[in-house]
Amino acid sequence: MTDKDKRLKDYVLEAVNFLKQNLSDKGKIFVAFSGGKDSTVIAKLMEISELNYQLYYSFTGIDPPELVRFIRENYRECTFLHPKKSFWKDLESHIPPSSKIRWCCTSLKKEPSYKINLFHRVEGIRSEESSRRAKYKRVNHFEKLGITKYYPILEWKEWQVWEFIGDYSLEYCKLYDEGFGRIGCVICPFNSKGSKQLHCKKRWPKFFKKFEETIEILYQKRMKQGRIMNFPDSRGFCEAWYKDDSARWYKDENTKKPIWEEENLQAINI
Ligand code: SF4
Repeated sequence: MTDKDKRLKDYVLEAVNFLKQNLSDKGKIFVAFSGGKDSTVIAKLMEISELNYQLYYSFTGIDPPELVRFIRENYRECTFLHPKKSFWKDLESHIPPSSKIRWCCTSLKKEPSYKINLFHRVEGIRSEESSRRAKYKRVNHFEKLGITKYYPILEWKEWQVWEFIGDYSLEYCKLYDEGFGRIGCVICPFNSKGSKQLHCKKRWPKFFKKFEETIEILYQKRMKQGRIMNFPDSRGFCEAWYKDDSARWYKDENTKKPIWEEENLQAINI
């Protein structure tokens, strides 16, 4: 054990040992790096573990500019992965994303990363972030892709993340100091709960202007194709989607009854 290791707290040492035991003989390791607090911890743990690795950031084009700047300034060695099409171009030919239909996660994050021929991958996901993640195993093999993922801080609590960042005096994205608990895509269906989407709209209005313009293009395109829209106009849809990502884009095709009722429009437009 090195002097450096002796200074480590139990939970840090445990995570470093987990990395060493599982990955020492696996060659170069792909490390998914988002620029968020958990990724900041992962990057440091990889450095402490002295494994052979490379950080990769999926450049979504809809992340906060402050986050992208933070990565460029503090993690110059990080490789940026770019999607085939921008979010906006893709949006023109899809439906608005929802937490159930996350086509953008596939095209902006997953597909670009699959082009990298490194099959052992480390990610900074944590159980307490969602009920879905709470069910994850610490080592997950994805048969079809031939990829194995390792989650060294799966059981860490948020306080441990911040304690680690403090102990190692790590730089972190300052958007956390503005009260953002999780940092990622500015316009995301997962923000459409509570007031986060509207808070983001105030903070990054240009992204939302572009979103509304693109939704209008998509709306008109679908109308011309004869689709029956659930909202009288694209603005009505956006206002509803900001508050609930399950807002219906098309009218319910089974019952042919509008899910949307005119009187509700006023309630949502407040
Ligand atoms: S907007 Fe949300 S769902 Fe889409 S890529 Fe970003 S995180 Fe994934």
